[in-house]
Amino acid sequence: MSQNALLSEVAKGANLKSVETVDKSGPKIDSDVHIKKNEHGALLGEISKGANLTHVETVDKSAPKIDANTHVGQNQHGALLSEIKAKGDNHERSLLQYGTKKERLGKDSIKNFDCCVLCLNELRSPMSCTKGHLYCKECIYSNLLDQKKEIKRKEKEWEQQQAKLQADKEKIKEKEQQDIVEKFEKDTVSAIGDKTTTTTTTAAAGTMELKSFWIPSLTPDNREAVLDKPSTNTICTEGGHLLKLKQLITVQFTPIRAKDDSTNSDKYCCPICKKTLSNSSELRMLKRCGHVFCSCLSKFDSTGCYVCDKPYTKDTVISLQKGGTGYAGSGSKLEAQKYTPTAII
Ligand SMILES: [Zn+2]
Ligand SMILES: [Zn+2]
Ligand SMILES: [Zn+2]
Ligand SMILES: [Zn+2]
Repeated sequence: MSQNALLSEVAKGANLKSVETVDKSGPKIDSDVHIKKNEHGALLGEISKGANLTHVETVDKSAPKIDANTHVGQNQHGALLSEIKAKGDNHERSLLQYGTKKERLGKDSIKNFDCCVLCLNELRSPMSCTKGHLYCKECIYSNLLDQKKEIKRKEKEWEQQQAKLQADKEKIKEKEQQDIVEKFEKDTVSAIGDKTTTTTTTAAAGTMELKSFWIPSLTPDNREAVLDKPSTNTICTEGGHLLKLKQLITVQFTPIRAKDDSTNSDKYCCPICKKTLSNSSELRMLKRCGHVFCSCLSKFDSTGCYVCDKPYTKDTVISLQKGGTGYAGSGSKLEAQKYTPTAII
C-alpha cells in the first residue's frame, strides 16, 4: 500500500463498532461499605506535641555479670607478642625441638675450683690426680675401688669366654678327626664294594646347619661377640687418663681463717701473696707436698716449698683444674650444645 492510499483511507474515516468491556481500572466499592475519616492529621499533631515518657525498671542481661570480688587482670597479649618477636627465629626453632641447640652457661652451671668433680660438693680432704683434677678423698677412693671391681668382673667374663672358645675349638678338632676316621672307613668299605650311601646321606643331613632369620637362636650371625681383653688400668674419671690409687696427691690448701669459721665463703688463699683463691686464679700445686699457690709461684725464686721447704723443680708443679668464672675471658668453655635429630618426612 502506498503512502497516498493510506492517507486517503485515514481521511475517509473508519466505521468502528461499540464493544462491551469490563473496566477494572477503578476500585469497585460496594454500596454498603463505609469508609472512615483519615486520622493522620491528628497523629502528626500528637507527635509534634512531644511525649512524656515514664521510666520502666528492666533487667539488662546484655553485659556479662562479674562478681564484685572477681579481679580481672590486665591483658598480657601485647607483652607476649613482643616477647615472641624479640626471641625471633631462635624461639621458633627451640619450639620445633630439633637441630643443634646452644646455650650459654652462666656461673651457676660451672663447678667451683674447690668442689669435687664426682660429688660436686665442697672438697672434703681434697686429693688431686697427676693432672690436677680435684676429688674428695672418699669419692676418689670409692670410685677407684668401683673401677677395680668392674675390671675384675670383666676379667672373669673374658676368662669364661676364652675357656668356652677353647673348648669349642677342641670340640671342632675332635669332630674333624672323627670325620677323617669316618671318611677313611667309608672309603675302605666302598673300596670293597659295599654300598653304604644311605648312611652317608643321613650323616650329611645331621651336620647341615639350619638357618632362620625368624628364630633368634638360629639367625646366621647370632654368635656371641668376642670380648676384648679388658684393660686392668684404673682411670681418672674426669680427665680420662690412667690413674692409680698411689698416684693421688693430698692437696694442702691454705685456709684464710680458722676452720670453724664457716661464715667466710672465700676459704683459701695463696700462702705467698695471701691473695684469695678463686675460680679465676691460676692454681699451682707442688707434687711432693701438695701445697697450693697462685700464679705468683713462678715469680717466687726458690728450690724449696714456701710452706714446708720440701725441694721442688718446675716439672713437679701441677696446674690444678679450675672451675669457671662465667666470663668468656676466663678461658673456660661456656657454651652447651645439644643436637636433636629429626626424622625426614
Ligand atoms: Zn666428692
Ligand atoms: Zn685427672
Ligand atoms: Zn700467690
Ligand atoms: Zn709444701
